[in-house]
Amino acid sequence: MGDMTARRELTTYPPSNTEDSEAMARIREFLDRVAPPTPCLVIDLQTVRDRYLELTEALPGARAFYAVKANPAPGVLRLLATLGAGFDVASIPEIELCLAEGARPEDISYGNTIKKRADVAKAFALGVRKFTTDSMADLENLAECAPGSSVFCRVALNDTGAVFEFGSKFGCASDMVVSLLARTGELGLHPAGVSFHVGSQQLDPAAWDAGIAEAAEIAAKLASDGIQLPLLNIGGGFPGNYTVVSPPTTHYATVISDSLARHFGAAGLPLPEVMLEPGRLLVADAGLLRTEVVLVSRKSTADDHRWVYLDSGRYNGMADTENDWIYFQLTTPRRGGETGPVILAGPTCDGTDVWYHNRMYELPLELRAGDHVDVLSAGAYSTSTSCADFNGFAPTTTHCV
Ligand SMILES: *Cc1c(COP(=O)(O)O)cnc(C)c1O
Repeated sequence: MGDMTARRELTTYPPSNTEDSEAMARIREFLDRVAPPTPCLVIDLQTVRDRYLELTEALPGARAFYAVKANPAPGVLRLLATLGAGFDVASIPEIELCLAEGARPEDISYGNTIKKRADVAKAFALGVRKFTTDSMADLENLAECAPGSSVFCRVALNDTGAVFEFGSKFGCASDMVVSLLARTGELGLHPAGVSFHVGSQQLDPAAWDAGIAEAAEIAAKLASDGIQLPLLNIGGGFPGNYTVVSPPTTHYATVISDSLARHFGAAGLPLPEVMLEPGRLLVADAGLLRTEVVLVSRKSTADDHRWVYLDSGRYNGMADTENDWIYFQLTTPRRGGETGPVILAGPTCDGTDVWYHNRMYELPLELRAGDHVDVLSAGAYSTSTSCADFNGFAPTTTHCV
């Protein structure tokens, strides 16, 4: 522990400018009025709506399929269904949840390439007709259990520089994409297009260019065999605003539109209809996660830093702090007074349930047990990655305002 602490960098983060926003006012009004038990996530639905409209207006003609795993709160799904969004799902329970909140089966895309044959059959029985694959074994299951469906094939991209790489788990080489999509038609399925994912919290809009270039090459090869691909699924990866300011959505849209025109134009192909799978972008900035201080302590009288134990950690809301992936902005009610360095940790008996390993935060010296520490832009991958009851701690609850 001593060593780990010594290597930590000390960082002060200014409160987010969203602190003064109307969204924050709505969230704070709810927290003041209801005082819900902590830890809890409050989602401002107006922000979800704004982000969805910004994205779809920036890329006219593209259709957004919300990646449900980012935040499956029924209120979020219902709002997005009302706005006409589609849904990218990974399992039968996610399909059932979307249907229950107003999605039509034709609005659902089963984007997980890793699925049981029985789940393909169940999804088909529920009316789902869009599937993504990256292997012959899965494609054969689709042919047998989801006949006539539309199939996307995911191409594996090299290192894209995202905060969260998808690594080599998903997708396959582009020549295999060509042969799988060619086989799709022979098996009585519809080849819909190429899909790819540039990794989550992708701060470099140019990352999409490589995927679009690959997709155009694949489409050109198939076109020469008389197979047209009407769609292109450019996945998710659009960022939330944490302590690193991310480029605006319009900038992503411009880069993507230019890449499409350039690569498909060069191949002499018509532009495919674009599908998006935003997750984080739509919900991250909409959420505030309220935690309560359980304990403040020091490990030795010589230490100038304190340990602040909160009622949320990697098992119940703060999984994105793992590996120092994302540094969140925090606010506390005791502002203005003197501050000092702290190590933040969760409430469980797991030694790895420590928020950050490379940085300390600056929090008020007055901070005590029972105070709230609010985590800003925590709407994505917080409640959805919360464990059922590790160590008996209940999962973080969600309130939509
Ligand atoms: C997780 C996931 C997404 C959403 O990613 P974000 O970074 O949250 O936008 C989209 N598509 C697929 C296939 C995914 O697995």
